[in-house]
Order: sequence, then structure tokens, then C-alpha cells
Amino acid sequence: MSAYDELLGRSRQLDGKDPLAGYRQLFVGADDPQVPAYLDGNSLGRPLQASVERVRDLMVQGWGGRLIRGWDEGWLDLPQQLGDELGRVALGAGPGQCIVADSTTVLLYKLARAAVAARPGRHRVLVDRDNFPTDRYVLEGIAAECGLELDWLQVPYDGGAEPKSVRAAVGPDTALVVLSHVAYRSGHLADMRAITEVVQASGALMLWDLCHSAGAVPVELDAWGVDLAVGCSYKYLNGGPGAPAWAYVRSTHQQLAQPIQGWIGSRDPFGMEQGYQPAEGIRRFASGTPPIIGMAAMQDMIALIGRAGIGAIREKSIALTSYALDVVDTLLAGTGAVATSPREPERRGSHVTIDHPGARTATVRLWERGIIPDYRNPCGIRLGLSPLSTSFEEVLRGVAAIAAELAGSAPRA
Ligand SMILES: *Cc1c(COP(=O)(O)O)cnc(C)c1O
Repeated sequence: MSAYDELLGRSRQLDGKDPLAGYRQLFVGADDPQVPAYLDGNSLGRPLQASVERVRDLMVQGWGGRLIRGWDEGWLDLPQQLGDELGRVALGAGPGQCIVADSTTVLLYKLARAAVAARPGRHRVLVDRDNFPTDRYVLEGIAAECGLELDWLQVPYDGGAEPKSVRAAVGPDTALVVLSHVAYRSGHLADMRAITEVVQASGALMLWDLCHSAGAVPVELDAWGVDLAVGCSYKYLNGGPGAPAWAYVRSTHQQLAQPIQGWIGSRDPFGMEQGYQPAEGIRRFASGTPPIIGMAAMQDMIALIGRAGIGAIREKSIALTSYALDVVDTLLAGTGAVATSPREPERRGSHVTIDHPGARTATVRLWERGIIPDYRNPCGIRLGLSPLSTSFEEVLRGVAAIAAELAGSAPRA
């Protein structure tokens, strides 16, 4: 039996005993022959068929039928209601601490700005060098705006922030630390609980970016004492392109003052008062009119995560990334490709990155054939394995096509 046949047999076995296998059929295009392998669900999750119906109903009956009455009939409460539901099924957050709003970029700005204002007299902010660009850029802007210094945490190329490296980098002048739970390139999974403790022991506040965790990697925001977190909803929460983000503000921090003082975050939006007075509770972190159409699709995915269970989703995610690494080790041997994600499953999120000098051109050619991994600079092919919509056989199809493409473009020794 060839190595490929062996891997194929194993993929079918794994799919056969996967308790979540049936969920894949609920997604639009799961068996589209034009897309033999979608390995980019960590950048844009597939739509659920149920969301297609929901968006249609919202437009025809909600918007078209109820018109402006819709705001009083549920739309205004949706950001908090969805936040509570998301907190319950995926974040380990009790009610009244999560809200859906804005984009991740804007929420990062609002929470980071509120956090540094709550630590007057401290002048430094710690962020890791490999954090997602928007996180780094937002903090550069806040540092310039508030006269703060940024400290850049250096992290290994195939790793991420560790409690030890964070402990060595924080001090009595640190106001805030901003890190991603799952590193967007390497897939490294940080020890959220331990790092939060280290940061809080220094007197600083900790803001976690959960873009690559929410919906795939469980967290316990309440139990782990997390101060602040943000995440997006178009990755593993399948909210669709540009769907709004979410924020978590621990109940004990809800006196923080965020800088974008809009009417929706005010005490009485329809009182139209003079002088901004913030709302009590999580709503004060909202600013403007909530994006109702943008919040439609994520509702079905949040419900599905609740049904499947985030623990079972994590188990499948680990099985998928472990299988993907085995396939990479077998089929990409000799192509010059190097896996740059952590090998220990408990230190890995739901994606795996492979570096190869020909990654960029290979990805362009693969996309033309409907083999869709992600490309990330400088030379990484990222396999994002969304647990509810990805099968083991799909992983094999995708990685085998990547192997053939890279073998063709490998620099000859
Ligand atoms: C995807 C992602 C973002 C996206 O921010 P937007 O404002 O939605 O564009 C931010 N941070 C991280 C870590 C991400 O992975």
C-alpha cells in the first residue's frame, strides 16, 4: 500500500468515527466539486444553510415588514443578547459581560485606550512582535496619542508568548499587555490563565485577542480572571465577511471609560440628553447603531456551537491538526517545506502553518483549482481547519494537492 493510500484509509476511518461529521452537511458548498478542499475557515468561515434563510427572512419579514418597529422588537437588544449567548457557549463568560459591536480593530482601540486610562502614571504597553498587524498598529496609535512607550515582546518564529517571557517583560511602569491567544501565523496557543496572572501581579491590565480562538478553542474568561478580550466573528464563528466583532469586559471593570462616546453607549439613547452619560454595564462599550444584518449569520453558528459543544469541537480540532501534520510530514517530505506550528496539541490552535519558498505562487495556482489554503508572509501556507465544516478526507485532498504543487516548484539541489 502506498503512503497516500494509507493516509486515505486513515482519513476515512477518522471521518467514520467522528461524532461531529454530520454537521459538515449543514454548510453551503460543503460538497461543491469546484472547491475540493477549503482550508481557510480560520480566515472566513463557510456560511450555514440556516443563515441563508435567516438573512432572507430578516430582509423580507424583518426589515421589509416590520420596518423601523424592528428596533423595539429585538434589534436594539441583539448585541447584548448575542454577546451573552456567545459567552455561554464558547467563552466561559457569564451574562452581561460580552457585547457584539464594531470591528475587532475598533474594539481593540476602545478597550486598550480605556485600559491605559485606568492605569495613570504607568507609561508602557507590552505587545508581541508577531501579533496581527492591526493589533500592533492600533497600539502604535494609542502610544502616540497618549505619550506611552511600546515594549515589543520577541517570540520564537514557530511559537508565541510564554508566561516566563511575559514575566521578564512587564514591570511597575507597564499599564497594559495585549497578546493573541492563538498566534495568527504559527498557531501557537498561549497559556491564557498563567499569563493573565503574571500580568495582573505586575499591576497591569491584560487584553486578549481571541480572533483565532472563539468557536474553535475553548476559554474560561470568568474562571481564569481575564480582564478584557476581543475577537472577530467571521472566522470560526462564521458570521460572514465583515461581520461585527465582540468584546468581553469583566463585570468588575465595567466602570472603565471607553473613548468613542456614542449615543448607543449612553445612559438613555432616546432621551437625547445634553452631555454624555455612559450606560451602566456592558452597553457603555457600544458606540453607534448596531449592524443588524451583519449579526444575522453568526446566530446560527453560535447556536450550532452550543449544540455540538465547544469541548467536542476542540477534540475534533486537535484531531484535524494532528492528522494534517502527519500528512504534511509524509507527503511534503523532500519538498523543502517545514511545518512551523507547535507539535504538542495542547500548545496549538486550530491551524497549522507550513513554510516553503514557493508558497506564494503555489497558493495562487491552488486557488484557481479550488484548493484553498491561506497564504501568510513571508512564505507560509496556512491550513485553517474549522472543526464543524472540515473533514479529514478534505484535509488529505488539500495537502496532497499542496504537496504536488510544491514538489513541482521545489528548488532543485
Ligand atoms: C482576523 C484578526 C483581526 C481582524 O481585525 P478586523 O478589525 O476584523 O479586520 C484582528 N486581530 C487578529 C489576531 C486577527 O486574527
